[in-house]
Amino acid sequence: MEFSRRSFLGGLGAASAATLLAKSPAQAAPQGIDPDSYASLIDLTKCDGCPGQEMPECVSACRQANAHKFPEPDPDMLKPYWPQPFYEDWSNQRDVQSRLTPYNWIFVQRIKVEHEGETVEVSVPRRCMHCDNPPCAKLCPFGIKHKHPEGMVTIDPFLCFGGAKCRTVCPWDIPQRQAGVGIYTYLDPLPAGGGVMFKCDLCKDRLDRGEQPACIPACPRDAMTLGTRTEIDRMADELAQKYQGYIYGKKENGGTPTLYVSKVPFEKLQQGLMAQPQEKGGLVQLHNPQNMLERNEGWARLAMTAPVLGAITAFATSLAKGKSKGAATKANEDSKQGGQ
Ligand code: SF4
Ligand code: SF4
Ligand code: SF4
Repeated sequence: MEFSRRSFLGGLGAASAATLLAKSPAQAAPQGIDPDSYASLIDLTKCDGCPGQEMPECVSACRQANAHKFPEPDPDMLKPYWPQPFYEDWSNQRDVQSRLTPYNWIFVQRIKVEHEGETVEVSVPRRCMHCDNPPCAKLCPFGIKHKHPEGMVTIDPFLCFGGAKCRTVCPWDIPQRQAGVGIYTYLDPLPAGGGVMFKCDLCKDRLDRGEQPACIPACPRDAMTLGTRTEIDRMADELAQKYQGYIYGKKENGGTPTLYVSKVPFEKLQQGLMAQPQEKGGLVQLHNPQNMLERNEGWARLAMTAPVLGAITAFATSLAKGKSKGAATKANEDSKQGGQ
């Protein structure tokens, strides 16, 4: 099937699509960004958090669509590995939906704020923003995170060591670690991370097949829209103007293709969020972070080392493959002996 990113305009609704097409191509994407790359809009005036549901529809759809990518750890490897003083295991808490985990790549924040004289609750679906200049990808010491020209940022689960540098440098603490899986399990006693990092990959496999990311069509309120960067930027501007509202994501962390539109200012939502009890390690802020690659030369210099360390990854991979092959050969020999 021939696939065009513009085909997603069909999901915008006839009136919106007609408006957008009539104006195309008046507004350009940010400099250096492919205007036809993927972007998404999350309309907080429409999202109601799926009240009464055991699990929001977007969360449920993400879990179903991506279940085959979720980690299945080796129980024998669930232990601290030097120099890590602890390990992170979510495999027995797969039902957690109140925060991001290796088994929950999108969750819905509920934030109560005073706005225009009344108390309102705003539901905010949170997942990876797929930043334009992602520090998580550029500062990964092993160079195994990728910003694709189509717009999404992905992690290679077969090469990730789980050192969690990507989470340290992500202003929203998006990637989450699962121990007992990945290349480090082949490398003991080398100091090697401690698992694999997991996060939303914008359903790259579905997009490659010409299907929308699972969470988007699953929303009963049409709160989420996928389109080209040019279309989504323009749609966000138009909605913000219509609601006399606000946009989050255009400038944060240097710019992202994930845009939120809200009637309530995001500063107020951030204050409301910070005033609520927080789950340890589960906070995904709504602040206004600068991109650390742009504000700190030291980080930028460190980014230069990523390709060098990538060579270490290649070496480690060959070691792992050798060990894996050796283990398979031994298993074959054992089974042959057992069968004699
Ligand atoms: S985005 Fe849609 S599916 Fe997700 S919580 Fe909001 S209303 Fe529900
Ligand atoms: S939100 Fe965080 S994990 Fe996602 S691309 Fe940006 S820096 Fe990376
Ligand atoms: S885009 Fe795909 S991976 Fe990301 S939150 Fe939505 S369903 Fe999950």
